[in-house]
Amino acid sequence: MSVITAADTGALTWNGMAELVLQGGVLSREDAIRILEAPDEELLAILDAAYRVRREYFGQTVQLYYLKNAKSGLCPEDCNYCSQSKISDAPIERYAMLSAERLMDGARKAAESNARTYCIVASGRGPTNREVDHVAGVVRQIKEQYGLHICCCLGLLEPEQALKLKAAGVDRVNHNLNTSERFHPEICTTHTFRDRLQTLSICRDAGLELCAGMIVGMGEVNGDVADVALKLAELNVESIPINFLHAIDGTPLQSKHELNPRYCLKVLSMFRLTNPKAELRIAGGREVNLRSMQSLGLYPANSMFVSDYLTTPGQKAEEDFRMIADLGFQITAGDYDSAKLLELWKIPHAKACGSEAAGQCGCG
Ligand code: SF4
Repeated sequence: MSVITAADTGALTWNGMAELVLQGGVLSREDAIRILEAPDEELLAILDAAYRVRREYFGQTVQLYYLKNAKSGLCPEDCNYCSQSKISDAPIERYAMLSAERLMDGARKAAESNARTYCIVASGRGPTNREVDHVAGVVRQIKEQYGLHICCCLGLLEPEQALKLKAAGVDRVNHNLNTSERFHPEICTTHTFRDRLQTLSICRDAGLELCAGMIVGMGEVNGDVADVALKLAELNVESIPINFLHAIDGTPLQSKHELNPRYCLKVLSMFRLTNPKAELRIAGGREVNLRSMQSLGLYPANSMFVSDYLTTPGQKAEEDFRMIADLGFQITAGDYDSAKLLELWKIPHAKACGSEAAGQCGCG
């Protein structure tokens, strides 16, 4: 069956794009760029088109992810955006792989905050075999005790390592593209875009689901953002985290502040319309870049992190639950609706909110 494209139908209104996508068509690169370049007056119509597609595949549900920085800093790579890289002077916590107890404690907090997925993230180019064995052992325990969906973000992986993670019960691996192939050399020289694609391919071959996204606002142009979205559609990834650069002092990108909330919403809408069935997650930089318009991001996106990021604190989980309840949306994991969760959170939050997670690791 041939795929319908916008060029075939001439469907160039925002709503026409939604129709096209709902009929199984794909957006052209030109249309993807047109969304990003649209005037702000068109924003509500663009969000409406993206929301139509989100509703079709995800209804009004929101999936929460809880992230644990299992190993922080000490990374030999030179990713310009990352506070954990060897070229960053950011004053972050630096520590080797956390003990099984600490990782289990993170799983407990994820379960308490009603997250569906617990993300175990480690800094570095890639894990040692010993680190993979350690994580695999902990994942077995987490599965037994909490039954959480597990996503691991450990950097570049070898085929045997991916198979080991799969055998331990890991559901998904996160490995972001971060930016387009064209722009990648501008933000990192110690590994290539092709290296990243290779890890995704190794994970797919091991039977793991894929989570891969980007960091917007590093100096790329709209064509780069569109290229990442179309590449992820081609790879058919299950999950797409969109980070909006939170420029961290001490990193080479510390003075990049190019984003505004309206543009961020157009980016999320474009990703929804190019990847209609993928989980689309508002990830790092949500609070500083979307600011008062955060809740609108959940019209195109259907997922977000709760609590902190890798090296930066997030908004309080209580405020996230309130935002979801105010939208009339439902959290998918666990037995509670968002209003009840808001009540329940007040008790464990006071003792459970340890801010250990931190920055925007491009492995994650
Ligand atoms: S993004 Fe990952 S690989 Fe790059 S510097 Fe940070 S921790 Fe290292």
